[in-house]
Amino acid sequence: MVDINNHMEVNAISESCQILSDTLDLVEKSIFPGQSVLELDKIAENYISSCNAKPAFKGYDGFPATLTVSIDDEIVHGIPKDVVLVEGQIVSIDCGVIKNDFYSDSARTIAVGKISEEKQRLLDVTKKALEIGIKNAVIGNKIFDISNSIQEYVESEGFSIVRELVGHGIGRQLHIKPQVPNFSNPVTADLNVELKEGMCLAIEPMVNVGTRHIKTDSDGWTIRTEDGSASAHFEHSILITKFQPRILT
Ligand code: MG
Ligand code: MG
Repeated sequence: MVDINNHMEVNAISESCQILSDTLDLVEKSIFPGQSVLELDKIAENYISSCNAKPAFKGYDGFPATLTVSIDDEIVHGIPKDVVLVEGQIVSIDCGVIKNDFYSDSARTIAVGKISEEKQRLLDVTKKALEIGIKNAVIGNKIFDISNSIQEYVESEGFSIVRELVGHGIGRQLHIKPQVPNFSNPVTADLNVELKEGMCLAIEPMVNVGTRHIKTDSDGWTIRTEDGSASAHFEHSILITKFQPRILT
């Protein structure tokens, strides 16, 4: 079963998403060479608390922080460490909020100062892949259309799509049905889910410069590219409507 949200539920999810979007704006403004990663986590946690909301990732399966901070070849789930950001890095910030029992989830990859042309192209392609996926999140389409459009675009740009991690439904929990993969082959059950008004989805392409394959660090969380190439991640929580999809985060 896929959750179809009523008006009240949509409003609650939207409120959670607005807090998250503001949190990420604040974190993005705070990213510069020399910035402490632990400080970024503190900035996010303090802001979310000031909105009478809770960080959704802290405590999730035992995750210890508000943000996941994944630098360069780290794809997702990086635990914030006692390090400072260095010019030329790209840093993927993923965050979730719980407000009045409703969840939101969003991520951005941000440049630290001046970055290489290749990294800039990776950021541009990943961001556009998310936009293309969202454009396909309309009634009459299936999850397949989101997944397929993202994969086709990213691979046409010569980059690769991570397959082990996927987008998802969102609302009363952080991860609910349907799964929203960023690839369409092989076709699995959730790819056949028809998109309906009131569905909320977190769409989140993870794109690598090199191989699509991943490995996990000994901390059990940090996932990085197998070949050490750079990776980017953009994610929005969106609502399927009668008209165009609405980006909530
Ligand atoms: Mg996320
Ligand atoms: Mg997500």
